[in-house]
Amino acid sequence: MECYNCGKEEFVKKKVEYMQLGISLGRFDALVCPACGETLFEGSVSKQIERKAKDAGIWGLARKTHIGTSGSSLDVKVPKTIVDFLSLKKGQEVIIEPTSKNKIEIRIV
Ligand SMILES: [Zn+2]
Repeated sequence: MECYNCGKEEFVKKKVEYMQLGISLGRFDALVCPACGETLFEGSVSKQIERKAKDAGIWGLARKTHIGTSGSSLDVKVPKTIVDFLSLKKGQEVIIEPTSKNKIEIRIV
């Protein structure tokens, strides 16, 4: 199958390491374009990766939360799943920075 991304090469079968949130979930069968590096995982492999991510507790960590108030500032409640994943503690110092008009990044220092 020709690469749909660059159209220069045929995909080749390869074992590829899959990383999520900086954690390796293992090596999986994939189709990789030698020219541009585009990588495809077939349906059954995607399911395998999803299972590994769930077992590792890193699947679907996104949660909806709300802006609250704290004195004259606003605060954001961090859901427990994220608190646990990052081992956050009350009083811990973080850097908060907008990265676009609708996105905020919080870095642990
Ligand atoms: Zn390509």
